[in-house]
Amino acid sequence: MSDPVLYLQQVVRTYRQADGELEILRGAELALWPGQSVALVAPSGAGKSTLLHIAGLLERPDGGEVYLGHVPTAHMEDAERTALRRTEIGFVYQFHHLLPEFSAQENVMLPQMIRGLTRPQASERAGELLGYLGLGSRLKHRPAELSGGEQQRVAIARAVANTPRLLLADEPTGNLDPKTADHVFGALTQLVQATGLAALVATHNMELANRMDRRVTLRDGLVVEME
Ligand code: ADP
Repeated sequence: MSDPVLYLQQVVRTYRQADGELEILRGAELALWPGQSVALVAPSGAGKSTLLHIAGLLERPDGGEVYLGHVPTAHMEDAERTALRRTEIGFVYQFHHLLPEFSAQENVMLPQMIRGLTRPQASERAGELLGYLGLGSRLKHRPAELSGGEQQRVAIARAVANTPRLLLADEPTGNLDPKTADHVFGALTQLVQATGLAALVATHNMELANRMDRRVTLRDGLVVEME
């Protein structure tokens, strides 16, 4: 069997507060396999964002290990973690955070050009990705000229522009009406299956979560499979 794309091993995360310590993760375990989409469904305050930030190498765990492929990352230098994050991980947030003065295509080109691709190479891949996500006729539109669902699909294209192995999304459809959310979710799951990405998606929407391969929740600081 291949390595998991992401393996959280006994992850502990504690926030220090004036009145003591807040233990958010107490030995959380989670493995994600290539081509697998996993919904993270838990009440507000349970630690979903914390888990995503640790998985995305934005925060370090206080204990345990975070493997990307077979590489342990918890004790890596910051620069190495940043490099790994840039190449291996894509992020989608609740709000699209697209650059307003650039077109949809340019927004998807930028991360590729930062990584060293030429403009024509980046342009071609951005066009293909946006076409795949149903935005072939919107390449030259700026974010303000796109609907909420279209903006979020551009954000997904941008997140996967550098062919990461892991996609992390924090309430990616939380800001959309149900029909649009459904459409954006469909695009995301299709992309995961087609590319062999692994995706971890925090959502409050159980209907959408049910369309993913697995559902997990956080209970007492541990990751628990839902069924
Ligand atoms: P969720 O995404 O499930 O809503 P979070 O991971 O954002 O949950 O937060 C989990 C808990 O940790 C919350 O009670 C929150 O107040 C607390 N928390 C998150 N970040 C910090 C921080 N930097 N310092 C102190 N407490 C934090």
